[in-house]
Amino acid sequence: MCRHLAYLGPPVSLAELMFDGANSLAGQSWAPTMMRRGGTVNVDGFGVGWFPPDAAEPAAPGAAEAGRRPGARVVSPTARTVAPPLRYRRTGPIWNDHGFAEVATVVRTPAALAAVRSATTGMPISEEACAPFRSGPWLFSHNGVLPGWPDCAAGLVTDLPAAALLTEGATDSALLWALLRARIDAGSPPADAVRDLVGEVGELIPGARLNLLLTDGETVFATTWTHSLFVQHAPGRLVVASEPLDEDGDWAEVPDARLLVATRDKVEITPIHPTSVPSR
Ligand code: GLN
Repeated sequence: MCRHLAYLGPPVSLAELMFDGANSLAGQSWAPTMMRRGGTVNVDGFGVGWFPPDAAEPAAPGAAEAGRRPGARVVSPTARTVAPPLRYRRTGPIWNDHGFAEVATVVRTPAALAAVRSATTGMPISEEACAPFRSGPWLFSHNGVLPGWPDCAAGLVTDLPAAALLTEGATDSALLWALLRARIDAGSPPADAVRDLVGEVGELIPGARLNLLLTDGETVFATTWTHSLFVQHAPGRLVVASEPLDEDGDWAEVPDARLLVATRDKVEITPIHPTSVPSR
């Protein structure tokens, strides 16, 4: 089972986000504490997507007058301009990538999504299979499995590009991302798209495990559908993670079968299809 996290808040380095803390994401790659059903380590790759600070950070009040460098973009304190996220992915365990550990100390970001992967048996081990998946402003990760892949998913696929994902050695996560993206691109509000997809896939595929994580650098959307998820929130700062990253007492566990929609300022947790949660 993979482990993933999303962060929104004051700029931090990727190293602080992924390597710091008694139970950091990097630590969870070899010693996760809350793996449920299958998998013991997360060594089949890792990835992080992050939003560049200049774009996602609000300018300090008065920054425009206080002499920004010529030509620098002035960002309104209220209206954020989000540039597409950057991304780094590798196959293999995160602890093997010493170069990344160094670069991560100097890359700073106000918004990121990171994951370490334990490939589901039979699924490819490649960079393309590692979260975060990315499109436009979106970063996406899936912690879970569609049992019986790929045959189980035939009923989900109604168009040819998605159908190709069933035959070309893609992962279940890649298909879920394609299906989610199609809903968002068709105009569905992201919260509805995420909730509806999990509800529908959960009902169609018994035993599906569907902890999804999605962000555009402004809002985090996350679901619990079998696996663990925790949230740590303080004014202006949000962390959503499969496991608490440290021993601070302010991590709240998100119950199962929930949709979390959160910004830096507000966390909302609502049930997903409360009347028809399939047994799993
Ligand atoms: N099934 C997905 C994959 O193989 C996610 C695996 C997981 O959550 N461990 O990449």
